[in-house]
Amino acid sequence: MRRLLFSALCLCVAMAGFSQAKVIAHRGYWKTDGSAQNSIRSLVKADSIKVFGSEFDVWMTSDDKLVVNHDQVFKGVNFENATSEEVAKIRLDNGEKVPTLEEYLIEARKMPDTRLILELKSLTDPTREDKACAMIVDMLKKYGLLGRTDIICFSINACIEFKKLCPVGVKIYYLDGDLPPKKIAKLGLAGVDYSMKALRKHPEWIKQAHDLGLEVNVWTVDKEEDMKYFLEQGVDYLTTNHPEQAQKLIAK
Ligand code: MG
Repeated sequence: MRRLLFSALCLCVAMAGFSQAKVIAHRGYWKTDGSAQNSIRSLVKADSIKVFGSEFDVWMTSDDKLVVNHDQVFKGVNFENATSEEVAKIRLDNGEKVPTLEEYLIEARKMPDTRLILELKSLTDPTREDKACAMIVDMLKKYGLLGRTDIICFSINACIEFKKLCPVGVKIYYLDGDLPPKKIAKLGLAGVDYSMKALRKHPEWIKQAHDLGLEVNVWTVDKEEDMKYFLEQGVDYLTTNHPEQAQKLIAK
């Protein structure tokens, strides 16, 4: 009987741990009718299923305009070298045009319950990257969204620049998976947002991060067995292309 009670208690603790993880829709919720990666529709869809956050990617074009898209080369256009006029001609798979960051944020303002997870794609020239960081912070301020946005970058230069520009409390996470939590804490970042591969290689980084007061996000977790593994490891956020599946698993 005692053993049974103990097992039940362990299960409750495990479930409580499970329930703390928050779901982030990777590139919005795009694996659903009428949606496409990083489209306005994918943000609306993510909001409609009440995810914690919706992730999206930002490039700066050669004429210094911020646009939302993932691939550097998309439909034959290189987003770092192209002009905004060239980008504006592209149609996403659902027929939408590539949103400018401004258009995306204007829509996001209508969805106050969904957190924005903004990824700045790494730029070749660090000076241009710094400029993109400043423009992003200004635009988030302009639309009153800085308090509802988390920032993620592969570029450590961009993480440091955002840290300089943002008020205290804005969370910035590093994506590249090559730095231990101790280094991330020293830089004053909010946590690590690492691939499954990086965290499977260093599962100890999850506890180390938590002990340092950092948070852990893991991407891109699409298989149920991987979702279960990382939920059991106690990650704070799960970034996935299957947000509804993750929500169901967490709610179990
Ligand atoms: Mg991304």
